[in-house]
Amino acid sequence: MDLTFASFSEISDAVKSKKISAKEVAAHFQKRIEALDSQLNSFSSQNPEALKDAENTDSRIAKGEDVGLLAGVPFGIKEMLCTKNLKTTAGSKILSNFVPPYDSTVVARLKKQGVTILGKLNQDEFAMGSSNETSFYGAVKNPWDVNRVPGGSSGGSAAAQAARLVAGTIGTDTGGSIRQPASFCGIVGVKPTYGRVSRYGIIAFASSLDQAGPMVSSVKDAALTLEVISGHDPMDSTSSQKTVPSWSKNLSSDVKGLKIGVIKEYMKGGLDADTEKTYSESLNTLKNMGAEIVEVSVSMTEFAVPIYYLVATSEASSNLARYDGIRYGYRAEFPSLAGVELEDFYAKTRGEGFGKEVKRRIMLGTYCLSSGYYDAYYTKAGQVRRLLTEQYLAAFKNCDVILSPVTTSPAFKIGELVSDPLAMYMNDIFTTSTNLAGLPGMSVPFGASASGLPIGIQVTANHFDEQRMLNVAAALESAAPVKGKKPHVI
Ligand code: GLN
Repeated sequence: MDLTFASFSEISDAVKSKKISAKEVAAHFQKRIEALDSQLNSFSSQNPEALKDAENTDSRIAKGEDVGLLAGVPFGIKEMLCTKNLKTTAGSKILSNFVPPYDSTVVARLKKQGVTILGKLNQDEFAMGSSNETSFYGAVKNPWDVNRVPGGSSGGSAAAQAARLVAGTIGTDTGGSIRQPASFCGIVGVKPTYGRVSRYGIIAFASSLDQAGPMVSSVKDAALTLEVISGHDPMDSTSSQKTVPSWSKNLSSDVKGLKIGVIKEYMKGGLDADTEKTYSESLNTLKNMGAEIVEVSVSMTEFAVPIYYLVATSEASSNLARYDGIRYGYRAEFPSLAGVELEDFYAKTRGEGFGKEVKRRIMLGTYCLSSGYYDAYYTKAGQVRRLLTEQYLAAFKNCDVILSPVTTSPAFKIGELVSDPLAMYMNDIFTTSTNLAGLPGMSVPFGASASGLPIGIQVTANHFDEQRMLNVAAALESAAPVKGKKPHVI
């Protein structure tokens, strides 16, 4: 077994049958982080207890205990997810000293199945961004070309996974933050149906859109991880009571007779040539495998980016109000607090603690929610969001899954879009509608640009129909022209 490229079941089978110890597995990947991450900046901190945690898995195995589905599989976790006794910064200065006293449900469930947590992964500040350039902890580099962005906001997760500094990673997706970096870095990234995965212990950005999900190297590993982290959690009232199927066991790349929807309104052009070619090849591939391609209309997708930026900023402005320097987080320094007005205290703390993009979103969101504008912006956005969802539900009466590009182009250069926020926001054109409608969506590596940059394909399914989405992704994965290609930093 080549440990660097081993699947989750290969690692966990080997660990359980004592062919290799969980500690040796963890140490192998720690060495990779030491050797390679200076080129990528994907880890923001490492878990000093990782080897001890792995040893604990080994001693439980020695005692004959059931250590779970992911025994000894090393993971990196995005900075948005709380990890007990491990710094959780959300990529922000304002949480630079925050050490949670508890695990998020996602992390607790991974640990319960024997996962070793190797550390925390860099991201855009509060998950606001598409390039990982808004992080207080510096930009992350794309392992396929270190002059390019890994995508965002889960850029650290995507880069670490692509370079195989870990066996698996977790990201979060509010408007595309799992799928876009997965596409840019040539890995598999899944945003589950809203409510599939508990949000307990995940730092809130936009609560009606946020979901965590796997960013891994194969559809099978994604299915397995999703099984582990999904399911009802009494700590999150929006988490669904629906039973969690055995997606990994039921995985099938047989797409014969499936109807693959193509959104007619997406066909207006605007894609770069390599992305367009990859997309049409993916459709042809499925057709050759026996699927039927059908056209569907979801015309409200035209408004997905503006609706998203009204809803997400409004919810963010409310969620981020808690960072006031009093209860927790960074506090601005004052020679003495005597005579300092509370408002000045807040202004200095938040002024210093938040970066530019986060401030821009707080201002936009506060404006949307202000009396006099609330109905015109926030209420209206909610209404159009509802129409968008209804159009998707109607479309899924005529097709099983929808296939689309993930982004309009492969990874762009570091610095290329930082001074143009609107151009940056347009990165989310194919991903935000999935979050707004609460649907599951994923990116699977399929093609490449002429210069060798990876290009993913997005598969979207109806609510709670992750199985069909994963199956179609597995079919694409099996036939992908880029199968087996590796990034430069690996
Ligand atoms: N790029 C989008 C944004 O900046 C999506 C972020 C996300 O999914 N967390 O809001």
